[in-house]
Amino acid sequence: MEPERYEDIAELAESIAEENFANGKTDLELILKKKNIILVKGNYEKYFIGTLYHKSKEFTVFLNMDMLDENKIPRIRFTIAHELGHYFIDEHRNLLKNGTSLSFNASHNCDLNEKEANHFASFLLMPTKRFLTKAFDTESGLPGILQLANQFESSIESTSIHYMKLNCCNGLLIRWKEDNTAQFHLCSNAFANIIGSGPKPSIQLNPVYLDKLKNELDAQGTEYKVLENATNLSRWLLHIGSGSALDLPALEQTLRLGAYGGITLNYN
Ligand SMILES: [Zn+2]
Repeated sequence: MEPERYEDIAELAESIAEENFANGKTDLELILKKKNIILVKGNYEKYFIGTLYHKSKEFTVFLNMDMLDENKIPRIRFTIAHELGHYFIDEHRNLLKNGTSLSFNASHNCDLNEKEANHFASFLLMPTKRFLTKAFDTESGLPGILQLANQFESSIESTSIHYMKLNCCNGLLIRWKEDNTAQFHLCSNAFANIIGSGPKPSIQLNPVYLDKLKNELDAQGTEYKVLENATNLSRWLLHIGSGSALDLPALEQTLRLGAYGGITLNYN
């Protein structure tokens, strides 16, 4: 996405969030109501997670409860916010009005429209100024991310991405899957400078070590507990040799995401 486009979409989402912010979070139902968008929850097997549908000048957001959990409100909110992105971004809405479908499912996720709607959703749920004010007011690292996710009712995953992209923490965040491979990783600008890499350094995941972290967290049995260890950057970054000048000590925090792997954040 072009930086200018990135900023325009963030600004659009934030201005809508500001007009519809109540009790510390963005009121999505109010936005739907103001725009006469109907929300329908149904069971549609595995065809999509959410979708925005246009017919006879009416917009409807369909949520597929076969793919969503009624109790996981942040995930539902993110899906609605994503569909609102398709409504508020002119190019997307015009596509829909011309009869082109914009289904939200895993196979379409790399599509630019999907990226733009996800980007919109993050800034609609977590407008920058409010997010930064809260971020500097709470603990740093993963405990802070948990508090922010709770405050803005956004998912832990989308909150952690937002946290790193807004440079709230000088570090490297890795979302790993249950099979100990990486789903994605990202680092703050300052951290990329310190370790002499671009924004996407090559990481390495040690399956034996990750299994050890998982076992420790699972043994405690409490969800959303953060496990802290002292680490060295060479453990996680491929280009840093053990004992080299860049092999700096860091605080390593790990959080389990149920049975779906977890997140590790290294920072100093
Ligand atoms: Zn979509």
